[in-house]
Amino acid sequence: MKYHLVPGNREKWCQSAIIIVVSLFLCLPVHLDTGCAYAAGRAGLRNHQAPEFAPLPPMQRFLSGTALNRRKYAENIRNANEFLSSENHFRIFWGNDIDPWDANWHDTDGNGTPQWIDVIAQALEDAHAIQYSQGFAVPYGMDRYALDVYIANTGMEILNSETGSWEKVTISSGYFALTEINEADACAWFVFNSDFSNIVSSSDEMTVLRVTAAHELFHAVQRSYYPWNDSSKISNARWDKEGWWFEASAAWMEEICEPDANDYAEYVRDFLARPDKSITTFDGNREYGASVYCGYLWMKYGGASLWQTVFENASSDGLEDSIDSALSQSGGPSFYRSVAEFWSFAAHPEDTWPDGALYKSSSAPEISQTVNAIPSDFSVKRFSPDRLGAYLIKLDKTIEKPAGLTISNVSSDSAWIAAMSAEDVTDPITKELKPGIERNLSYSGSDSYIAIVNVSETQGSQNFDLGIDEGDVNDLPDNDNSCDGDNTDSGGGSSGCFIDSAGLLFFKIP
Ligand SMILES: [Zn+2]
Repeated sequence: MKYHLVPGNREKWCQSAIIIVVSLFLCLPVHLDTGCAYAAGRAGLRNHQAPEFAPLPPMQRFLSGTALNRRKYAENIRNANEFLSSENHFRIFWGNDIDPWDANWHDTDGNGTPQWIDVIAQALEDAHAIQYSQGFAVPYGMDRYALDVYIANTGMEILNSETGSWEKVTISSGYFALTEINEADACAWFVFNSDFSNIVSSSDEMTVLRVTAAHELFHAVQRSYYPWNDSSKISNARWDKEGWWFEASAAWMEEICEPDANDYAEYVRDFLARPDKSITTFDGNREYGASVYCGYLWMKYGGASLWQTVFENASSDGLEDSIDSALSQSGGPSFYRSVAEFWSFAAHPEDTWPDGALYKSSSAPEISQTVNAIPSDFSVKRFSPDRLGAYLIKLDKTIEKPAGLTISNVSSDSAWIAAMSAEDVTDPITKELKPGIERNLSYSGSDSYIAIVNVSETQGSQNFDLGIDEGDVNDLPDNDNSCDGDNTDSGGGSSGCFIDSAGLLFFKIP
């Protein structure tokens, strides 16, 4: 006996003339769609409001190959102060129009510079030390120059050498910071806001300031591999597909450099509330939450060196192919399977990510179906997932019978991978689900999580029917997976791969 889940087709529902009222209701997403939402304080790499001033020429870090040009004050900037960071990697400018009541701008340690400047300078140096020690390329241009940092909205002005006019150094009050590229000198530069208090609570400002420094600096590192700012090399259409990785990895770099800040977790909760949306969605919000996928690759498949291989090849090979080959070099699965693995873990993040408990909320992760008994009577809760999105199912540990999963009525041009994990599982089982073929699974012991992931080449959502019933123990095991090793026999009457002691799930072909 089977009960089928039919996630449905958005267009089909919406176009039905007979049930217009019902279809209008069904078209409403369960959660507010965060697409195109404004991520507070975050400025996307290409789509932010551009600064309305031209940067100064950068300062060479070394003169005559030896002496550091430590105190060569910049010209053509006025109402401004200048500070070189401790390792001389960053030259910071700020103006004199400061709120005297803002404690973040007081010189609390008496070193002659305001706290806001000290914190940015040290956070950039600290982030650089960590990123460089992990083997990443130096930030774009740092091999020759101190990278310039302008603290905007502090009243300083820069002379535009082309127009001859003085330009105020400003930034939108809604932004934390920007990373910009000086193409003429081939180096990165930064604009930081002077005040985050209208974006975050004042008690969080200094923490977010350090996180922001790590994030923006990593964009400059990324530019050493991939010309993200250059639409003649990376077309806008291509950037729409690949840009998510650059924000997602920069957001995870916040966690690498500032592990106690956890500012990114807010975006992860939004992300996990909509597993049906692609991990590659690039809408000004979701890409920051996709940091957990980058973090998953980092933790599981070789950390910084895997990322470096991705960055090294992304410009020439394309992002997804570069992730695929980097995973292959690390002995990992294909890109698609890594996404399926990721989603099965994301269904219970507290068991995998160090901060995983912070990723949970009343609506995240969105488990579309919890199965407490077999056969299970499903109801429709969500439309089918977009490409590289997932449909998440939880099988409760109280189920005593082996469970069988079937997928059917998938369109011929669609492709699916299912992945299953559980609390103690470090290597989820992933299986390709071919159209028209039903597969079974089984499990034991603990709560188990299944992600049904759309890996179709074409974008957009796809239909499928799912059913869960009693697993057929006479089914033969499927040999294209890790159904070997130390799995123990379930006693179900056939040889091959069965339930292992850790409560693993596995598929069998009928
Ligand atoms: Zn960013």
